Amino acid sequence: MAQLSTTDIFNAEYAQLRDDADPLKQFRNEFLIPQHQGKPVAYFCGNSLGLQPKQAEASILQELNDWANLGVEGHTQARRPWVSYHEHLCEALAEITGSKTNEVVAMNALTVNLHLLMASFYRPSKTRFRILCEAKAFPSDQYALQSQAEWHGFTPAQAIREIHPREGQHYLTHDDIIQAIREEGDQLALVMIGGVNYYSGQVFDMEVITREAHNVGAMAGFDLAHAIGNIQLKLHEWNVDFAAWCSYKYLNSGPGGTAGVFIHEKHATSAETFRLKGWWGHNKAERFKMGPDFEPIPTAESWQMSNAPVLSMAVQIASLELFRQAGMTNLLEKSKALTAYADQLLSGLMEQGPLAGAFEIITPKERGCQLSLLFSRYGRAVFDHLTANGVIADWREPNVIRIAPVPLYNQFSDIYRLASLLAQFPG
Ligand SMILES: *Cc1c(COP(=O)(O)O)cnc(C)c1O
Repeated sequence: MAQLSTTDIFNAEYAQLRDDADPLKQFRNEFLIPQHQGKPVAYFCGNSLGLQPKQAEASILQELNDWANLGVEGHTQARRPWVSYHEHLCEALAEITGSKTNEVVAMNALTVNLHLLMASFYRPSKTRFRILCEAKAFPSDQYALQSQAEWHGFTPAQAIREIHPREGQHYLTHDDIIQAIREEGDQLALVMIGGVNYYSGQVFDMEVITREAHNVGAMAGFDLAHAIGNIQLKLHEWNVDFAAWCSYKYLNSGPGGTAGVFIHEKHATSAETFRLKGWWGHNKAERFKMGPDFEPIPTAESWQMSNAPVLSMAVQIASLELFRQAGMTNLLEKSKALTAYADQLLSGLMEQGPLAGAFEIITPKERGCQLSLLFSRYGRAVFDHLTANGVIADWREPNVIRIAPVPLYNQFSDIYRLASLLAQFPG
């Protein structure tokens, strides 16, 4: 396509043409979109809580009905028997995360899973106990790391090193990450970084970080809360040791939806890998013999402790089916196009109009769909102006508005609507 000027693309007709030409446009109809004054909002909060797939209700009802009709027999007789319910998610999760099906399982909640994985993969010694993470990690991750250090007898200050952006920068450079790993050397036990930083939207090069961590003998784990369903992942190929995610953001699996984990095959298949044990991680064929000796399933499933939260997983089955139908590669292509359009319109508004000089985009080009806008003036007033006009964005103290155009249900017209409201900001 020839280079179009901002005037060519900053209009409703252009956005509509892009929507009409979008091969994934019908997926928007698979979601329930909140309404504002009788028409759908422009929803940019899929990085916080993804929208509800229309099929979620039927999927939950299936289990409620099976429970009503079968009682305890639903464990084996339900249309999707509950004893093996989680297995319905493994294939789609493996596809989305670039893993093998024996490396992933849906279970628990994200922070819980981070702790369970660190029980396996943060096993510090007196000399190798340091943890590297990004500064301004999501607070729950910071708390998890701090308490892991304390649990093993270290103060957070002794154990944890945060990598900060350079002076005046808003995101990290990979050179600084690599240098920090090398400096820590044989003291380093674990690198734990978000695959995508929740605040800046920066995507980290997990392959390089993993390789560097392994070079000094450390483990590499990633929090994929903002990465799963948003960027291309190849966890197996990248040789990542472990990862965890939640499902209520880009995976659209509902508030508190069942989270998930990746454990590389080299660890998951080994009975030597330490894991905290529960009966759902035990050999499936022997589980109901109720014997005293734990025999781990030789897959990531052995990290499951408890039987599966079927009602919550029912939503995830409905949601992952949409990912399967749309195809991750197609979604990523649309995602790039949507975010590029947002970037172009917003960049124009940084230069001219009522918000010229009032904000900047702090998300680097290594990004998923999210753009983070840092305001030096008007921040909260702009956010309120958007909300009052049916554009749902996300506000982060002290001065950031995050927007995430999600390829499954956002459209180019949503972005036009956002940008035209900014262009009309009354000041
Ligand atoms: C959303 C998010 C969480 C939330 O944790 P829960 O355990 O699901 O409540 C944690 N960490 C990161 C990086 C997040 O983005």
